[in-house]
Amino acid sequence: MAPTQQALAAAAMSEPPHFVLVPLAAHGHLIPMVDLARLLASRGARVSLLTTSLNARRLRDGGVTDKAARAKLLLEVVELPYSPADYGLPPDCQNADMIANNAQMLPFFLALRDLAGPFEAYVRALVPLPSCIISDWCNSWTAGVAACLGIPRLFFQGPSCFFSLCDLNAAAHGLHEDREPHVVPGMSMCVKVGNRRAHGFFTSPGCNELRQDAVAAMRTSHGAVINTFLDLEEKSVACYEAALGKPVWALGPLCLHNRDGDDMASRGGDKGGVSERAIVAWLDKQAPDSVVYVSFGSVARKLPKQQFEIGHGLEHCGRPFLWVVKESELASPESRMWLENLEARTSGRGLVVRGWAPQLAVLSHRSVGGFVTHCGWNSVLESIAHGVPVLTWPHFADQFLNEQLAVDVLGVGLRIGVTMPIMILNDDAAAPVLRGDIARAVSELMQGGEEAEERRRKAKEYGAKARRAMEKGGDSYERLTQLIESFRHAGGKEHCSGVTA
Ligand code: UDP
Repeated sequence: MAPTQQALAAAAMSEPPHFVLVPLAAHGHLIPMVDLARLLASRGARVSLLTTSLNARRLRDGGVTDKAARAKLLLEVVELPYSPADYGLPPDCQNADMIANNAQMLPFFLALRDLAGPFEAYVRALVPLPSCIISDWCNSWTAGVAACLGIPRLFFQGPSCFFSLCDLNAAAHGLHEDREPHVVPGMSMCVKVGNRRAHGFFTSPGCNELRQDAVAAMRTSHGAVINTFLDLEEKSVACYEAALGKPVWALGPLCLHNRDGDDMASRGGDKGGVSERAIVAWLDKQAPDSVVYVSFGSVARKLPKQQFEIGHGLEHCGRPFLWVVKESELASPESRMWLENLEARTSGRGLVVRGWAPQLAVLSHRSVGGFVTHCGWNSVLESIAHGVPVLTWPHFADQFLNEQLAVDVLGVGLRIGVTMPIMILNDDAAAPVLRGDIARAVSELMQGGEEAEERRRKAKEYGAKARRAMEKGGDSYERLTQLIESFRHAGGKEHCSGVTA
């Protein structure tokens, strides 16, 4: 007997909601969206995460798919065909960390934009159409397909809500175009932006169209997902929601979904030169809150003159340090030799990780008492979530405003004192931060004085609030429940002809 219409409808209603996630291919965007994918799946949703082959391989190597399968989660990683050669890029240029120089930045984004065709083909083939698409703010090419098929779409905003609000308000008043800094209206404190400082994303030459597309896609979305929590940024979330005129889902800190050592160690990049076990064994030997962790995220690269100053600064500060140096920063034999000598001189007190460090495993270790960070939002939030105060050294994009939030609003940070952004990728600052200033600032962060203790106390307090936010009954936990329920019975209904063909 054929199933009745009613039975078919009931079966469709009992299906888990299907979320299609489309992260930007850059660690700072991909990592939190993978956390989000795992979180959604752990709460009973079906999740398909779409990315290119190299990123999919990294996720598989990191155990994301195997662990999901073992836990019987409905989480799949789907590869979209990607053709970087069409834009003169090498085949492995599939993630921002594989971009060799600044000239490759625009072609990289243009090549990613061509994923719109394969994305459309994938979505159209789904029966039924997905309940909701969550795509990175930068992936505006998902908007047309979602609109055409009537699928609700949320945009994922990677940076702090403080930055996102400021960026939106600055754009509304045309402040990005101005070279001189102006006060941004609608903020809870005095924030100045201009295109030479705190300038946001897609502001380099040639990227204007990408920025306009991203802003237009925000306007047509059904809301924003943001990696923060209300006890940290309640005012900014409320103002951002009002300014957007759409719901803002604060679901973080997403990193706290990683609870066991294995999950923490396998997030992001390819394995580093020192194993996670060796790093943790080294940290185990250090006193509580004594180690300063130094890392500048996945994209920014320091030139040798700045590396030398950092190395000598850490040597002179006299404290235990764990320093992450990228392979791309060790291109010359002189740099490698210099680093080996430094390691020999600081042996036992310092540990240098070449390549990729298991950052969450480091920040969650009791011996880590401070973090010298470039202020990528994930790094700042991961530090706060683990109660670790920060020494702020912003480079570009949202990082200066994340610094302002950490230092002036939250009171968990100390400035190293840089004031001007540098070019994305290579640290081309005319005057490097000098070793004496680095040693002094690290000592100030790590010492036991009143101000340092106050920063540490606040960081630990926010860390406790962050954990509560992610537990059952916490703000972020309950907001995720609402999000899943809001889209449970949503989904595409339209049958339009092709968007990208
Ligand atoms: N990360 C890591 N190991 C590294 C470098 C980075 O695990 O050696 C992770 C870090 O934990 C964070 C992300 O990569 O989740 C970097 O994001 P962030 O927003 O801090 O900076 P970006 O790389 O986007 O500049």
